[in-house]
Amino acid sequence: MKISWHERMMMLAEWWALWSTCSKGSVGAVVVDEDFQVLASGFNGAPRGIKHCQDQDEPLVDADGHCLYCIHAEMNCGHQAARTGVSLRGGTLFTLTRPCIRCAMNMVQWGLDSVFYRDLYLGDPFHDRAIWLLRHSGVRVSRLEVTPAMAAHILSLDNLKNQTWKF
Ligand SMILES: [Zn+2]
Ligand SMILES: [Zn+2]
Repeated sequence: MKISWHERMMMLAEWWALWSTCSKGSVGAVVVDEDFQVLASGFNGAPRGIKHCQDQDEPLVDADGHCLYCIHAEMNCGHQAARTGVSLRGGTLFTLTRPCIRCAMNMVQWGLDSVFYRDLYLGDPFHDRAIWLLRHSGVRVSRLEVTPAMAAHILSLDNLKNQTWKF
């Protein structure tokens, strides 16, 4: 089975999602340069030093049920880059779900060249606006739907997903 670099990067994002520590959902993201070298990676979870949101005694959620402790996977890519002094300018971000408007706004400011997302995320009425914002600001956006190779990879990670991971 021939696997494209785009598929590989989405598989990598899938791996990162395994490390998510939020009960509301697992998302992973990676940013790569034009040679597909990884510049930054992230998953959604609480900031360093704060209890994982899934372990909080009192979950902090907004009116729509979104977890407020969570830093989104895409944002954590930006934070990792800031922490390590890596520029994301011209980079390509791969994320498992269609980005939210807040992440989209930040992606524009990082100077990303393009964004690939895999799944639609239907719980947010502003997602269309997020895609519009990215495109309007010159960031290319495409959906990379699950291919047979990606499906096989997801299946292979299912066993790991079913375990309780503790970090
Ligand atoms: Zn959370
Ligand atoms: Zn987001």
